[in-house]
Amino acid sequence: MKVTINDKTLEELEELFLKEGYQKFRAKQVFRQIHVNKVNDFDQMTDLSKDMREELSQKFYFPSVKMENEFVSKIDSTKKYLLSLDDGNIIEAVFMNYESRKTICISSQVGCRMGCKFCASTKKGLERDLTAGEILEEVYELERINGDINNIVIMGIGEPLDNFKNITRFISLITDEKGRNLSHRSITLSTSGLVPKIYELADMDIDVNLALSLHYASDEKRRRYMPIANKYSIGQLIKACDYYLDKTKRRVSFEYVVIDGVNNLDEDVNNLVSLFAGKNIHINLIPLNPIEEFAYGKPKNSALRDFRDKLSRKKLNATIRRSMGSDIDASCGQLRNNYAR
Ligand code: SAH
Repeated sequence: MKVTINDKTLEELEELFLKEGYQKFRAKQVFRQIHVNKVNDFDQMTDLSKDMREELSQKFYFPSVKMENEFVSKIDSTKKYLLSLDDGNIIEAVFMNYESRKTICISSQVGCRMGCKFCASTKKGLERDLTAGEILEEVYELERINGDINNIVIMGIGEPLDNFKNITRFISLITDEKGRNLSHRSITLSTSGLVPKIYELADMDIDVNLALSLHYASDEKRRRYMPIANKYSIGQLIKACDYYLDKTKRRVSFEYVVIDGVNNLDEDVNNLVSLFAGKNIHINLIPLNPIEEFAYGKPKNSALRDFRDKLSRKKLNATIRRSMGSDIDASCGQLRNNYAR
């Protein structure tokens, strides 16, 4: 069986190459071709002899993540992508260009098993994890199309902390100074709140920004919409975030999908205040993107602003997330579901 080539650190590649009888510096050449030149085909590595290229392609392979479809917004620069994997599975990614910062939103799994009621990505459960090589190739494929990006948000399909080994390997690789050299602070990982994994992440040398999908300010309410809340309480979640913040000194923010009439009531304001009063935290208010399987609509702008103002008056720092590419409307998960149909 062929060995994946693009998910190896330089040290691992060197070891592999030595074992295969190649000189050590060849590993560095290949590593640079992959991570600096974004080459995903040995044939294009013209700094290697034809024979060596041929041999390498017998022994190693690149997982492919190929653009199937591109949807371009007419309102802003947002583009959404359907990407196909070697086994025919489909994932989604989004490219945004805002104030000359290029951000991509990437998927971490094919499907998701968290079961949040309002989310399209989880409706058919988890198909499989993405490998580290696939997540990397997902990013490089988007960079081949759009040029180098500045930020990555791991907020596409999947629960990144449910694919811990691969997502952390991916982050280590893409931040490697000898390769793509993206800074840790330009990566934001969003999680529905797998508490033990937040501690584990904090104790590694990963140091990315953390976004916590809170969405509800009481355990009772949260449990109704997010099964993970039956496992970990909001109190445990916030403690884990405090630990993460303390350890990494990175930004931790709370995501709050506003569902009008459900989680923007006065009781929610009060609950948020008792959770966060006096703390220097940031709440991102996200308008619900309506999906077929969840019977709530998009909140009016006035409802969003009201809620934000109520929070602000209580000294909680909340902002309304800009909604990009609203005309190619299909937050992650929806495109894939429709494609499957
Ligand atoms: N599983 C991770 C990351 C992927 S979801 C997580 O839960 O954080 C990325 C963000 O989109 C999460 O905050 C998620 O709750 C939110 N989201 C899911 N469905 C949505 C919808 N219909 N409208 C708006 N945001 C949604």
